[in-house]
Amino acid sequence: MATGLVYSDRYLQHNTNPFRLPSGKTLPFVEPVDHPSNPRLVERTKKLLDYTGLSKQLERVEPYAATVEDLAPFHPTDYVDLIRGISEAGGGDAGQGAPIGADSYDIALLAAGGVMAAVDAVMEGSLQQCFALVRPPGHHAEASKGRGFCVFGNVAIAAHHARRRYGIERVMIVDWDVHHGNGTQAAFYDDPNVLFVSLQQDRLFPVDSGSADEVGSGAGAGFTANIALPAGSGGAAYNAAFERVIVPLAEQFKPEIVFVSAGQDASASDPLGRMLLAAEHYRELTAIMQGIAARTAAGRLVLAQEGGYSETYAPYCTMAIFEQLVGTRTGIEEPVDPTRVGRWPASLAVSGDQEGAINRTIEALSPFWKF
Ligand SMILES: [Zn+2]
Repeated sequence: MATGLVYSDRYLQHNTNPFRLPSGKTLPFVEPVDHPSNPRLVERTKKLLDYTGLSKQLERVEPYAATVEDLAPFHPTDYVDLIRGISEAGGGDAGQGAPIGADSYDIALLAAGGVMAAVDAVMEGSLQQCFALVRPPGHHAEASKGRGFCVFGNVAIAAHHARRRYGIERVMIVDWDVHHGNGTQAAFYDDPNVLFVSLQQDRLFPVDSGSADEVGSGAGAGFTANIALPAGSGGAAYNAAFERVIVPLAEQFKPEIVFVSAGQDASASDPLGRMLLAAEHYRELTAIMQGIAARTAAGRLVLAQEGGYSETYAPYCTMAIFEQLVGTRTGIEEPVDPTRVGRWPASLAVSGDQEGAINRTIEALSPFWKF
C-alpha cells in the first residue's frame, strides 16, 4: 500500500524554549531546560525512519503553507493576525501554554498545510495513506486561542479542506493523543458531517473537558464521542475501546476519509501522560484504523503528529505506526522489550474502572448509535 510522509526541516525551527512554570518564569534554581514540545520528537522520529530505511519505502509529500482562507472555517482572521503579530515581534504565547518564536507563524501555517497536503495526496489518488510529521501540533488549539503547545488546528483545518476542496461529506477523526482533543472537538461540536472520537487519560488536559457526556450539540448531537480512560490504562483497554466503541461508530457512520490525531504520549515512557501503551499497541491501533478506512473510505487514511514527549521511546512508537502502514517490520531493537510488554497486566486485561469508562461512553451515545 503506497504510504506518504509529509515532512520539512522547517518544522524543527518552531522555537518553544525554554521550559516555563505556570507563572511564566523559568526554573529559578538550575540552568533552563527545554520545553516539552521541543523539536526533538519530530527530528528524532525522522532520523529513526531514515536510519531503519523506512523512509525509502515512503513517498515524500511536500507541505505547503495554509492560507488565511484555508484557516477561515475554524480560525477568525483576527486570531490569525494576532499570531502573525506575536511572531513578527520575536515571539511570545499564542494563548495559554502555546509558546511561539519569531518564525512560528510561517511554520504553523506549514503544519496546517502539511496535513492539507496529506489530504491532497490521498484524495487525488496518488497515495492511500499519508502521515504528516508536523509541528507545532494542533488538537488543543481553539478558534481564537492557542493552547497546550498548539497554534492552529491542523487536523480540523485539513478536515475542512477535504470537505471544501473534494466534496467529502462524512469525515471521521480519531484522536488517540493522551490529552483531550478539545480544539478539534469544538471545531465540529454541532456538525453532523464530522464524527470526532477522542480517547484520553481522564481529566489530564484540559482538565475540564473530554468527559463521556460531551456528545455534540444541535444537529451534531451524537457526532462527538469521548472515551476518558483512567490513568494506567494499557493495550487491553485501548483495544476494547476501539472494538466496542470506535469500530461500531465507524461502521454506522461510513466515513469517506479517516483522520488520526496521532500523539504517541500514551506510551508507558511518557513524562506527560500516565498510560501504558507500547510500540506494539500503536501497531495494533493503526491496523484497526486501516481496517476502518478500507471498509468505507477506499483506504483513505491521514495521520497527523500531535504530542509525544518521551524523546527515547516516542519515535519508536511512531516508527511502529509507519511499519504497520507500510506492512513491514524493520526488526530494529526497541528500548522497551516487546516480549515483556505482552506480559504487563495492562496489556492483558481490562480492569473494572476501565470497563466503566468505556461503558459510560456507550451509554452516552446509545440514543444515537447501536453498540
Ligand atoms: Zn498530548
